[in-house]
Amino acid sequence: MTTTGAEPVSLAASPSPRAWHAELAWLPGRGVCPDVLIEAAGDRFTVITPEVPASAIPDGLRPGLTRLPGLTLPGLANAHSHAFHRALRGITQVGRGTFWTWRERMYQVAAGLDPDTYLALARAVYAEMALAGITCVGEFHYLHHGPDGKPYADPNEMGRALIEAAGQAGIRITLLDTCYLSGGLSQDGEPRPLEGAQLRFGDRDGDAWAARADALGADSHGLLGLLARAGAAIHSVRAVPPDQMHPVIAWAQRIGAPLHAHLSEQPAENEACLAAYRQTPTEVLYEAGALGPRGTVVHATHLVGRDIELLGGSRTFACLCPTTEADLADGIGPAHELAAAGSPLTLGSDSQAVIDLFEEARRVELGERLASGQRGHFRAGELARAATTDGHASLGWPDAGEIAAGAIADLVTVTLDSPRLAGATPRTALASVIFAASAADVRHVVVGGQDLVVDGRHLLVDDVPAALSAAVTAALR
Ligand SMILES: [Zn+2]
Repeated sequence: MTTTGAEPVSLAASPSPRAWHAELAWLPGRGVCPDVLIEAAGDRFTVITPEVPASAIPDGLRPGLTRLPGLTLPGLANAHSHAFHRALRGITQVGRGTFWTWRERMYQVAAGLDPDTYLALARAVYAEMALAGITCVGEFHYLHHGPDGKPYADPNEMGRALIEAAGQAGIRITLLDTCYLSGGLSQDGEPRPLEGAQLRFGDRDGDAWAARADALGADSHGLLGLLARAGAAIHSVRAVPPDQMHPVIAWAQRIGAPLHAHLSEQPAENEACLAAYRQTPTEVLYEAGALGPRGTVVHATHLVGRDIELLGGSRTFACLCPTTEADLADGIGPAHELAAAGSPLTLGSDSQAVIDLFEEARRVELGERLASGQRGHFRAGELARAATTDGHASLGWPDAGEIAAGAIADLVTVTLDSPRLAGATPRTALASVIFAASAADVRHVVVGGQDLVVDGRHLLVDDVPAALSAAVTAALR
């Protein structure tokens, strides 16, 4: 496969000014405002003016002005994705089982992919994300090497395929290059060797991971292109021994990159970690120096009080993936306790059981309700913040996720005319969208000042369902 290396961008920033007129828009500090005139130059917003009736739009802005009926939000950030898991949708919904039996099926798909089939699959999956209003994805990428763990001629060929895929689908990507060294923990703390499909995930040790991550060629700001940046991930305490975490943490620190890790998704992980290290997985990450404001822990489902104190006190992001956590029978994490302790929340589609950040957002609140017997833990605005501002910040894009002058010009417009949302008013629009919209209600998406989805149609990927169907079939062959 040929890829374009560090220049995967297909949507160049346009220097010419653009303007949109949103029927309703959710603005920082102001909430939902009517008649919002949104102006941009290049990939940045320049002026945001609420309450400008159509009749008062300056003549100079009328040519090329795009009307956005419905509620316009900043672009959505999907903070945790494994693109290839999309091929498992549906086929794992038979019989009984657990997270661990699901994982065996996932390994079978992982074993069959190569850079070409993965590029096609990820391009289609990222196009599905774009249609759902996702303008930025955090790809937690561990399928690095060829069969039996033999590196490709370019050892980052799979990672570059993902960057290329995001570029072809027109969305931002943070490639969270994942260190994965061992196949689990034994009682005495000895890491188990990788086996089967896991061999494709592994680098020799933390230093070898860092050398490969360096070869991706990020600049000193961590950028890999206009729409792509580099990040790091520790797969989990199961897969990276504590004495191998330092090179990953140091690499992320050096370029100011995000550092993500799966955490306590399953009780069995906690039990193995306690048996091996006499510490919880959170304590292991804390001791290693992996927590902090550039850090994200994913799932954080089975925590004790001390874990929540460490995560909140260090301002580590907590990425919740409620549809996956429900699909895999993981459990319901302590979202409200984490947020109250100081951890900003973010959202991820993770296993791609569905790709719909409205669904993820409302499930954070609905899970709390089911677990507590009480309503009203998170307001719609707080859940929207998880899907936008905080999600982008956790992926290293702190100047995206707000409709504000100077911010990156990403927008998503949700129609309020669908059967699900008809009857919404300006006062209820945000709550209606967070608690009742589906990804199918997204009509318009802008990335970096450029239209990407218009009237529900992807401008770069002609037929997204056909692309998904072909790519999934090829991945399962
Ligand atoms: Zn995951």
